[in-house]
Amino acid sequence: MWLCLGAVGAANAAQDVCRDAPLAVQVLGSGGPFPRDGRASSSYLIWIDGRARLLVDAGGGASVRFGEAGARIEDLSLLAISHFHPDHVSDVPALLWVSQLFRTASLPFAGPSGNNAFPAVDTFLDRLFGDTAGAFPVLSRTVGGGNSGVARPEPTVVFASPALSVTAQGVPHTNAPTVAYRAEVGEASVVFSSDQTGADPRFIEFARDATVLVMHLAVAEATDGPIHARPSVVGQIARDAGVGTLILSHFMGVEPEHPGHEGFSLADQAANVAIVRRAFEGDLVLADDLLCLPID
Ligand SMILES: [Zn+2]
Ligand SMILES: [Zn+2]
Repeated sequence: MWLCLGAVGAANAAQDVCRDAPLAVQVLGSGGPFPRDGRASSSYLIWIDGRARLLVDAGGGASVRFGEAGARIEDLSLLAISHFHPDHVSDVPALLWVSQLFRTASLPFAGPSGNNAFPAVDTFLDRLFGDTAGAFPVLSRTVGGGNSGVARPEPTVVFASPALSVTAQGVPHTNAPTVAYRAEVGEASVVFSSDQTGADPRFIEFARDATVLVMHLAVAEATDGPIHARPSVVGQIARDAGVGTLILSHFMGVEPEHPGHEGFSLADQAANVAIVRRAFEGDLVLADDLLCLPID
């Protein structure tokens, strides 16, 4: 089936489901960079025992969805950033602004290492929030701790506590150093693919046997030179990794008059999902903003 019976999308209902479940994954933003497809940009939560503990990415609209989800900034253990395209990070200052009214400890970040074109996570935070050179020095005390820069193609632990551990691994996506994350909670695991071409088979090992894989279905099969995995590749990765449930997210679309219309996943979402389905036979969930999936 295409939609798990346990997945709930309406704001209030999803809030209750995520708070009541021992473990849940919630989509805050199911879109990519286009504001015109009605979706917030990339952002996901892991809920543990009624508290939002892990935030993966905070693209545009994430701060509003964070509040709608009933999440509290003081409950977060980690904000894990996949890469520095704005649709994954542009709401970070919005989330942190006035957070000091609610949390006393600075918020640990994880993110990629840098290159000539993109900053490492600690440089990104310094440029935004640094005491002297930052754009928002007023927020300098809200960030800090564990700024692990990683983009290596093997797993790197970026957070570990008895309740939650998070590993990161570099994945190919344009010239932006990009990392996927794997969250382990007890026996369960949730993997966030981030944006990637799907061309590195080491990601299949990283996602091996995950309870839930959140993977991005941004483009259509016929796209030329994709910087995102084609639907057939998404399906093959989920199949080869042996994941239980696949959540498709980061949907993208522009109006039919736009010359690029046909290249994006929302031009014909059903057809693109059907291509994923040809390879992957497990449970398949199509993300919407605020969708909550409890994990048994
Ligand atoms: Zn993106
Ligand atoms: Zn990207």
